[in-house]
Amino acid sequence: TMRLQNKVSIITGAAQGIGLATALKFAREGAIVVIVDMKPEAVEAAVAQCLALGAQAVGHAVNVTDRAAVDALVASVRERFGRIDVLVNNAGITRDARLQKMTLEQFDAVIDVNLRAVFHCSQAVADAMVEQGSGVILLASSVVGIYGNYGQTNYAASKFGVIGYAKTWSRELGPKGIRVNAVAPGFIETPILATIPDKLIAQMREEVPLRRLGQPEEIANVYAFLASDEASYINGAVIEVAGGLTV
Ligand code: NAD
Repeated sequence: TMRLQNKVSIITGAAQGIGLATALKFAREGAIVVIVDMKPEAVEAAVAQCLALGAQAVGHAVNVTDRAAVDALVASVRERFGRIDVLVNNAGITRDARLQKMTLEQFDAVIDVNLRAVFHCSQAVADAMVEQGSGVILLASSVVGIYGNYGQTNYAASKFGVIGYAKTWSRELGPKGIRVNAVAPGFIETPILATIPDKLIAQMREEVPLRRLGQPEEIANVYAFLASDEASYINGAVIEVAGGLTV
């Protein structure tokens, strides 16, 4: 059965990696998928993949750090589909350096996308969800946001920060029928790992009790569950999906 039938779902960073896998999973579950990413051609390609699955899908080439563009995107979705059921705040970046080497540009870039833009998108959809009396906001944290990581001052702070959003928004919006939850993936095989040396990847694999990296679909499955009515009593939670990495 289709768990997300006709649920209007905005997914940011949906052109590749976990976001694309999530868009395709939502499409298979019957959702009306709104693909948001910075890269116009990749957005079109992702939309085409969703359409090929028989889903309704539209694309928006938007940089989520641009508040005016985010507001316009949300207005356009509301106008076209009349509602917004799900927001998956998936877009995220890394700019790694240890504390003493990190530039302000690196620091600001990560905070801007991973923390500030998540505020933009979530604030932009909140009115629609409150008016409907229903909605789901999902946040992309990381095991790094719970345990920290060498060389990731900015990223760890941003991923810890979205857990703060989950806790706060679940309190504010829960009474209005909106659920807010975070997912904390471990090491997932996506293009974001491209800058990490092979030796380090092999080491990461050995640290995981399941002895492998996760696949984007294994995160997408959890987003789909959390977006569905099956998760109707899950609110303010942080779900680790990390193959046992942190046990
Ligand atoms: P990815 O780099 O493969 O994909 C991220 C997508 O977000 C890209 O398509 C990119 O164009 C888009 N994006 C980046 N900045 C944007 C912006 N300003 N506006 C619009 N789109 C933007 O990354 P991924 O590995 O699929 O990760 C997705 C999310 O999951 C991120 O938030 C990441 O921090 C988180 N995460 C990933 C892992 C992992 O191991 N891959 C682990 C934990 C958390």
